Amino acid sequence: KPLITINDIGRKYVIGAEVIHALKSVSLTINKGEFVALMGPSGSGKSTLMNILGCLDTPTKGEYILNGINVSHMSDNELAEVRNSEIGFVFQTFNLLPRSTALDNVALPLIYAGINKIKRTERATNALKNVGLGNRVDHKPNELSGGQRQRVAVARALINDPSIILADEPTGNLDTKTSIEIMGLIEDIHAKGNTIILVTHEEDIALHAHRIVRMRDGLIEKDYKNTEIQTVS
Ligand code: ADP
Ligand code: ADP
Repeated sequence: KPLITINDIGRKYVIGAEVIHALKSVSLTINKGEFVALMGPSGSGKSTLMNILGCLDTPTKGEYILNGINVSHMSDNELAEVRNSEIGFVFQTFNLLPRSTALDNVALPLIYAGINKIKRTERATNALKNVGLGNRVDHKPNELSGGQRQRVAVARALINDPSIILADEPTGNLDTKTSIEIMGLIEDIHAKGNTIILVTHEEDIALHAHRIVRMRDGLIEKDYKNTEIQTVS
């Protein structure tokens, strides 16, 4: 049974007299455990699609079924609930709270989930250990390297055991060596059975994924199995 089914979705923006079809007609099925890279030129609709997949936005036509839930016509509050339980986000800019420690950043989603402080600390500490940051729990983002910040963000994305991880250019702000390190971490997470959708414009980063979806002008141009998978050894 697919984890994600999107059926002929569209997203248009109406600005005054102008109508922009950011997504024209996109259909996509993603099963549990897939590792998909989403590629395409600037303006092709990747962010619009990721926003919809991440329940930050809804399509203006078509249907999106996530883990059996039809989220196509939900209110903002309903979407927020689905987001909290189903989606883990990793961004290019890390999006960490600058004044909070690594531990507090990772534990934040658990506050929204109503988990008590002792459990939060325990789970966040474990999550940080799992990304190799067991000795950095009390550090603030500006006391961590770019790669360590992204590890904190990955730990935070995983803390609620989401059904999908959406990573939007997660290596976009990292040097080559650190990018490879973060891709190794993402591979490990995938190997544990997680479903990952990764936006990247770098071909060598996309080669870590098992499936590549290429967009152009609000449509899927190509959707194929990656036969030359690259792994971080
Ligand atoms: P209106 O906005 O005037 O109510 P519709 O949106 O229903 O009209 O449809 C106008 C045309 O645009 C139709 O051909 C429809 O298939 C297409 N269309 C509607 N929504 C989208 C969308 N989000 N993306 C791409 N095409 C769309
Ligand atoms: P990509 O992420 O591939 O660069 P986007 O999804 O950001 O593409 O954009 C697709 C198209 O939709 C572009 O033409 C863009 O200008 C337009 N667009 C995106 N977001 C908005 C918005 N909030 N309002 C109006 N147009 C938008």
